[in-house]
Amino acid sequence: MQLLASFLAGGWSNGSGARQALVNPATEAVVAEVSAGGHDLAAAFAYARTTGAQELAALTFAQRGELVAGLAKTIHGAREELIALAIANGGNTRSDAKFDIDGAAVTLSHYAELGAKLGATKLLGDGEPIQVGRTARMGGQHVWASRRGVAVHINAFNFPAWGTCEKLACALVAGMPVISKPATATALVAHRLAQLFEPLLPKGVLQMLIGPAGKLLDHVALGDVVAFTGGSATAEMLRKQLPHIRLNIEADSLNAAVLAPDVDLTSEVGNLFLADVVRDMTQKVGQKCTAIRRVLVPEDKLADACDAIKERLATFKIGNPELEEVRIGPVATAAQLKDVRAGIARLAEATDGVYGGLGEVTPLGVPEGKGFFVGPVLRRAKDAMNCPPLNEHEVFGPVSTLAPYGGDAAYAAAFIAKGEGCLVSSAYSDDRDWVAGFVTAAAPWAGRLYLGSSKMAAQSPGPGTVLPSLVHGGPGRAGGGEELGGGRGLQFYMQRCALEGDASVLKSLVG
Ligand code: NAP
Repeated sequence: MQLLASFLAGGWSNGSGARQALVNPATEAVVAEVSAGGHDLAAAFAYARTTGAQELAALTFAQRGELVAGLAKTIHGAREELIALAIANGGNTRSDAKFDIDGAAVTLSHYAELGAKLGATKLLGDGEPIQVGRTARMGGQHVWASRRGVAVHINAFNFPAWGTCEKLACALVAGMPVISKPATATALVAHRLAQLFEPLLPKGVLQMLIGPAGKLLDHVALGDVVAFTGGSATAEMLRKQLPHIRLNIEADSLNAAVLAPDVDLTSEVGNLFLADVVRDMTQKVGQKCTAIRRVLVPEDKLADACDAIKERLATFKIGNPELEEVRIGPVATAAQLKDVRAGIARLAEATDGVYGGLGEVTPLGVPEGKGFFVGPVLRRAKDAMNCPPLNEHEVFGPVSTLAPYGGDAAYAAAFIAKGEGCLVSSAYSDDRDWVAGFVTAAAPWAGRLYLGSSKMAAQSPGPGTVLPSLVHGGPGRAGGGEELGGGRGLQFYMQRCALEGDASVLKSLVG
């Protein structure tokens, strides 16, 4: 069986101790193993702080952008191989695997272009020069400088390529060396990325720990940063263990979608709404941090919305993603399956079933009794605001719940707020007054608001797609973090410094 080595301190480390199996979630066949630990993490941090940091400090933004462009190109070249690994270890359908892998390449390309745009410089100006003295000779200028330390990246199981690369792209262009830790259960894709990237990058710039974190956090020191994506319980543990470290947290999110009263379900906007809800329930088996979990529909349209979503869900075949006709694979792990089932049971106590029962399913092309399968489940709540299982627990699977409302924009925004902070939520309307009322009240509770309308329907990627040019992250329950967003994504890895002095010197520093 293949043992996935970690790439640390300039070499491949097999580690030691008990081995953990990585399985194909459709068949439960073992596809690889990882060691429980036994890596020299102190050496890895020292290597990043010395060799990696020096290598990056010697490069301009444009040169770092070129490195990142090389990584994107490599992913393109290895696309089919990576897709096969994502199917085997992630339970991804081909389409799900492409979403992850192409998302990684697109994000790297975006940051490669940004590096090129920032040019042959190592300091970034922040805002205009400011006169702080009696005359224009004495000036002030804010700048961003690369932080000196290690960027530790901890990723969730659902996007082993995209999650790894979005964090990596920002850190590298900003100038920080990275120690990346993918989730163990789906590490096959990330491990292959480390193998592909290693020859393309200067020494010490990227290291990857494959397997459990072990004592990883014990080595984090002042000046380092930690970017985490995963569950809120792990996030809480990180906050406690690293009170003085710059942390970015992307955690649970109860994203919502709202149909405004002006929209007819048979219109283009109505169709966009239905397509987005169904896509988010089925793509990656609903294992997207951005997926729509809660749906608000005007009371008089609720029954029709339920019927339309049911009809679409019924066309999806569930089973082994190696079969071409299968459009929904398994969830990633046995533990996820248990969590999703518990979440459905909790919802079932407070809501009515519309489609899919409790997720029971007979998957296609799978040995009997094997695989981590759960079918799409649509529920219906009577009172959106008074349904704790709906508003307090993220079910990380193909599950969504619809609820009626009177059509009021303020109520819709209060429903968004009821999730206590989300990554993204969406509203579908062509009524600009309704949208303005909704956005003003809902924006404090969401990292991103997606506004579906007839003008954009034909070119919309849907709310579930994270774009490198827009920030990803959300307040409250979602962790309070912020990633991506073009140049904003670099700032986590940089220090803003206010310079005061001779205005002409300041100008020469930032160009
Ligand atoms: P998780 O259990 O919190 O794991 C996330 C990562 O943390 C994994 O790499 C895990 O490693 C690592 N980890 C666990 N214990 C650790 C420790 N003591 N020290 C350092 N690292 C540790 O979450 P998950 O089950 O993989 O992911 C599911 C959750 O992630 C969902 O709730 C979802 O909402 C959230 N998520 C959020 C986003 C977002 O962008 N906001 C994106 C995707 C997922 P091991 O795998 O080795 O245990």
